[in-house]
Amino acid sequence: MAKRWRFEGSQHVIGAGAMTLRGVMDGVMKNMDGDDGRHVIHLSQGDPSAFPSFRTAAFAEDAVCAAVRSAQFNGYSSTAGLPAARSAVAEYLSKDLPYDLSSDDVFLTIGCTQALEAILTALARPGANILLPRPGYPDYEARAAFAGLEVRHFDLDPENDWEADLAAVEALGDDHTVAIVVINPGNPCGNVFKYDHLKKIAEMARNMGILVIADEVYGHLTFGSNPFVPMGVFASIAPIITLGSLSKRWIVPGWRIGWLVLNDLHGILTKHGIVDSIKGFLNISSDPVTFIQAALPEILLKTPTDFYDKIVSMFRESAEKCYKLSQQIPCISCPTKPQGCMFLMIKLNLSMLEGICCKLAKEESVILLPGTGLGLKNWLRVTFAVEASHIDEGFRRIRAFCERHAISKKETTLSYYVESPVFDYIYV
Ligand SMILES: *Cc1c(COP(=O)(O)O)cnc(C)c1O
Repeated sequence: MAKRWRFEGSQHVIGAGAMTLRGVMDGVMKNMDGDDGRHVIHLSQGDPSAFPSFRTAAFAEDAVCAAVRSAQFNGYSSTAGLPAARSAVAEYLSKDLPYDLSSDDVFLTIGCTQALEAILTALARPGANILLPRPGYPDYEARAAFAGLEVRHFDLDPENDWEADLAAVEALGDDHTVAIVVINPGNPCGNVFKYDHLKKIAEMARNMGILVIADEVYGHLTFGSNPFVPMGVFASIAPIITLGSLSKRWIVPGWRIGWLVLNDLHGILTKHGIVDSIKGFLNISSDPVTFIQAALPEILLKTPTDFYDKIVSMFRESAEKCYKLSQQIPCISCPTKPQGCMFLMIKLNLSMLEGICCKLAKEESVILLPGTGLGLKNWLRVTFAVEASHIDEGFRRIRAFCERHAISKKETTLSYYVESPVFDYIYV
């Protein structure tokens, strides 16, 4: 027996891990009573791949099989990715831009997750801070905390189509601010920013001398009146780094492939060492699976458009259904109808419903994501990327729960932005 074991799990890592979406969901799931005989309705995670009607395009599956069968992609790829795959991403994204990207602008990553890890790590210098949206995607907070990058939150306004108040954003920054993150189409709000709002963000970034990180993992998954405009359109105004992946549009989050793309028309990112820093990060981490990279050119450039159309029309219908059902339950409301992405945010009108996510999981076997984990208390995130029958059953149970617990008819307005710089994850 050793007289004393000298190792201890890192609190730094445990703390950062608890902030991620997975960490927040673990907190909700541990309240489940086990099997109450009812089927669990998961309206928390945006991964519809389990449902037969959301199966990816047969074309994409064939491209992966062909890459495996060719036996040419069993080795390591180069750090930035296979040249053909990088150039396919450049061509795919250039279709929506007023200029052409080159394959050198593209770095392939293990999903959009590794792309955000790469850029946040590349930017982290002592004292630097980054502007993140609230509500947002908590993996940014977790990765920033892990990399030692200070986080400053700007609020997205539910009364104004979830747009940001740009004067307030600018006031939040200082000489140590290095970047702003824009998630569009928006997770968790299901909003799609207008051209003018995006342009103003780029202009603000230029004034502040900061980089725009455009998370477009839901790019093209839009079905409302605002079309999807890639942030890269404004690269002549300020340097942009675009992040994306196959996970959401092709419904294959398990394939783990994404990209980090430089929209840097004036070479500012190269000049300031950001490109070398990204390369350094990728050199010390692993690469996406080689045969999936090999299938990318086929998938990105040749997937039949009826596949995209089918997925978007299913999301349009299920978003509509979710929005309508949420209007019919008195203690919740949804101020803004979603226009894209896979989620909508629902507001709780009665304070006694605090802690609702754990109770709903326990009593009704319905899993929702608490807004607390996203920076908004007294809100919930619901995904509509599930079979329609699950939406019906899920909302039936939410209604039953609300009726059982509503003791007061009086509506109260609650404050909702979570104040602490790093969210309070305990109260779910
Ligand atoms: C899902 C998601 C990611 C991560 O994407 P993966 O390709 O699954 O790694 C990043 N950002 C946002 C906003 C997401 O919703």
